[in-house]
Amino acid sequence: MDERIAIVGGGLAAARVVQAYREAGGEDAITLVSSDSWPPYHRPPLSKAFLRGESEAEDALVQPAEDYERSDVDLRLGTTVESIDLEERQLRLQGGEVVPWSRLVIATGARPRKLPVRGADLPGVHVYRTIADADSVRTAAATAERALVIGGGFIGMETTASLRRRGLEVTQVDRSPRLFAALGAPEISASLDRLYRERGVEIVLEDGIAEFRGNGTLSGAVTQGGRTIEADLAVVGIGVELHTELLEGTGIALDDGVVVNERFETSVPNVYAVGDVARFHDPIYGHARRIEHWSNADHQGGQLGRLLAGEDAPYDHVAYFFTELFGTKIGVLGDPDGGVDEVVVRGSLDDGKVIAFYLRGGRLVAALVSGQDDETRAALNELLREQPAVDDVDALVQGRLPAVVA
Ligand code: NAP
Repeated sequence: MDERIAIVGGGLAAARVVQAYREAGGEDAITLVSSDSWPPYHRPPLSKAFLRGESEAEDALVQPAEDYERSDVDLRLGTTVESIDLEERQLRLQGGEVVPWSRLVIATGARPRKLPVRGADLPGVHVYRTIADADSVRTAAATAERALVIGGGFIGMETTASLRRRGLEVTQVDRSPRLFAALGAPEISASLDRLYRERGVEIVLEDGIAEFRGNGTLSGAVTQGGRTIEADLAVVGIGVELHTELLEGTGIALDDGVVVNERFETSVPNVYAVGDVARFHDPIYGHARRIEHWSNADHQGGQLGRLLAGEDAPYDHVAYFFTELFGTKIGVLGDPDGGVDEVVVRGSLDDGKVIAFYLRGGRLVAALVSGQDDETRAALNELLREQPAVDDVDALVQGRLPAVVA
């Protein structure tokens, strides 16, 4: 049999595997199967510039469709994989076609969770992940007047800001006691709360949607707390479910994701996983993690492409993510999710310059930055590789972050 790499999933991680593999001289045949009808694209613009009407779907593509052809990749768009046979080493596609492989990459990512309440299927209620989702919301936003955004995480925060900037009235509902609670930094959440209210967003916390209402199309919702909210457009951003059904019962180890080592190898030889779906060993922090962000898919896909081409390219990266909310850019580096004892904030997001230091067991494990220069971010990156013991954050700042402008 010819050597063939099959990639299941068509997000950024998959695209980076292909690019890095070919750039590193890999010559095996490649089949990339994606249920999306678009070639792999970057998702960050979808909830920001695209939703504001400042960029188009084509601008988000990792590379144009022709580039896959040029690099001899069999790109199967709008195609679902029905089953994976590890013994015969083949994929069965919807419609019965069989794709043999010698190495398999799982990059299936995740799909948005839906709210299990009455009215959630009404026209006007949207989830937000794909270009098709983003396009539906953008089209609806062109004529809608009042938006309801559910969730105070990444999608909720970003789509609220974009819809508000388009001039819609926006109510954002989150079950947490503070906005963007996932950042784990109450002072930052408080600043964001002030920013959003100043920009005219109605914020409803510690509440959830009991039902959506509408006669044929959305007209509003009632919250569990009994509040009635009028809306002709709703965006639900309440997290994701992983696409791992295909792997259940195959023998590939699963544990809230596909378990891989720092070389992205699953428990089955010649089967790899990357991106949102991969629970990988992070050698910098010494424990298993799963990360649902652009930069993770970007790094892991690139490393796996090089590994498959024979290079030594394990995971080696201080994880980071970024967001942009009403023009305020916030970046988080390190491991804020692996348990944090204390967050020490210097500066203020209200003033546009802040660093939050996340400490675990007295060591620096993550940092949130806004308004800092490249030199400071690079110095933080180095510190986060070391995870120094920190008795006094100000001494650390003076000694190691000379350019800090908090
Ligand atoms: P998310 O960031 O996990 O946030 C989900 C939010 O919804 C949380 O605040 C969660 O609260 C809340 N929630 C969960 N169930 C709820 C319910 N039944 N009712 C009300 N609120 C509920 O997920 P997301 O915002 O949907 O984003 C989807 C994915 O896209 C994530 O993987 C995210 O990382 C990614 N994304 C990343 C970026 C970025 O990196 N800038 C931007 C957009 C999207 P609890 O905390 O209480 O569960």
